[in-house]
Amino acid sequence: MVKPMPRKAKAPSPLTNLSEKEIAQLREIDERLSRVAQERRASLTRPSVHAEQTFGSITFRYETVRCGKKNCTRCPHGPYWYAYWKENGRTRSRYVGRILPTKAREVYEEKQRAKLDRVKTA
Ligand SMILES: [Zn+2]
Repeated sequence: MVKPMPRKAKAPSPLTNLSEKEIAQLREIDERLSRVAQERRASLTRPSVHAEQTFGSITFRYETVRCGKKNCTRCPHGPYWYAYWKENGRTRSRYVGRILPTKAREVYEEKQRAKLDRVKTA
């Protein structure tokens, strides 16, 4: 037989004595901390860029990405194409997929050919 541990008298939660203002401050700190944690995660999962092609105001990048999942055995994933553009001064991005949109791919392949030609003639 296992004797039950003697139960300690529960102290009242210190949160019950907080004013609205203090709770608001705590919430602010909490938000700030989770933002920092989020930024740190983002930097850990920063993709590595394999290729880049600017098309008008959009930059397409061919990237491998780390999903950030703890037990993932398939990391890094990809590479996949992502589109980056500016909107109201903020950088936005969108997953494109394994294949570039035709128009962007044509520009990209054109540049690759030009690069190869330069190497050949050098
Ligand atoms: Zn993964």
